[in-house]
Amino acid sequence: MSNFETASQLFIRDGDFLNFTRQYDLSIPQPLVFQKHNFKVELLAAGILLLEPKSLITTTDIIISTGIHGDETAPIEMACQCIADIILGKQDITCRILFIIGNPIAMNTGERFIDENLNRLFSGHYRTIPTCYEGRRAETIELHVNAFFNQHSITQVEAPQTPNDAQRRQRYHYDLHTAIKGSKYEKFAVYPFREKGNWQSQQLQRLYALDIKTIIFGNAPTTTFSYFTANVFDANAFTVELGQLRPFGQNYGLDLTKINRGLRRLMAEKPLVLQPFDNKDFHLFQILCQITRRTKNFRFHIPADTKNFTSFPVGTLIAEDQDRQYITSLPNEAIVFPNMTVQIGHRAGLMVLPTTV
Ligand SMILES: [Zn+2]
Repeated sequence: MSNFETASQLFIRDGDFLNFTRQYDLSIPQPLVFQKHNFKVELLAAGILLLEPKSLITTTDIIISTGIHGDETAPIEMACQCIADIILGKQDITCRILFIIGNPIAMNTGERFIDENLNRLFSGHYRTIPTCYEGRRAETIELHVNAFFNQHSITQVEAPQTPNDAQRRQRYHYDLHTAIKGSKYEKFAVYPFREKGNWQSQQLQRLYALDIKTIIFGNAPTTTFSYFTANVFDANAFTVELGQLRPFGQNYGLDLTKINRGLRRLMAEKPLVLQPFDNKDFHLFQILCQITRRTKNFRFHIPADTKNFTSFPVGTLIAEDQDRQYITSLPNEAIVFPNMTVQIGHRAGLMVLPTTV
């Protein structure tokens, strides 16, 4: 028996997708398809697993992606435990679900990425950079997401998607991360900019039920994974930050009970208990501007351990880059994702302002 067959049999028996993906992180020698209980399991590529109920008509498609940054382990552990419970018959599913471990190679080396930040390569942006692992990975993920939402195999000719299809099916995408920095609000989500208009307050209520009460509203198209699924497939898609990143096995301080329970209820189409929407229940932020690292001389004037959503008095020098300075000019300006080690031309931080909807 080949190593792949042995690993496959263990996966079919135990449902340990993390262990399986650790062994087959770059590619799989052949697709793996099996039936379990009342659903079909299909390993489509390294780290990409499709689960489809067999005996009922589904109306909901859910993508749970983790490890888009390879070292963000807590969401990977949570999703893989969920996969194991589904395969062992402990967790019902009545929806089609695509589980994605985004960057298995970087996961195995404990790094954010190998060559490029994967979450800057979606919506075809991978075509604009020299060929690299993350570029190929973004292309592979996009192909499988397209096939998933359009319900065909990637080897079939792409069927054009009709508006009716999109209206008929509920589409969700939760792209789960953990943040490099600590945060004033531990869990938060980025609600991608929507070309077609409005934020849906019902989606905010759902996030609240998942223990996500701090939301940043995107203000422009981006190259993130959640913007891709929101924009191309009209999915209810979010980048969700669940706390501070830790290595595998060291996430015991992070309480993921509510999001874990909520996502599992979503998969089984059990209703979430939704509170009426009230701005007062949330910390809502609009994006004021992005701070971009333009030269090698870029530096922050705020402490290295500044937490996400720290606000500053008007007139505070935040960052300096050659002859440019960023100085706060509005009350309650706060910073998110400060990271001075990014490549030149990339985002070193986001300035946000409290808002209401
Ligand atoms: Zn991340």
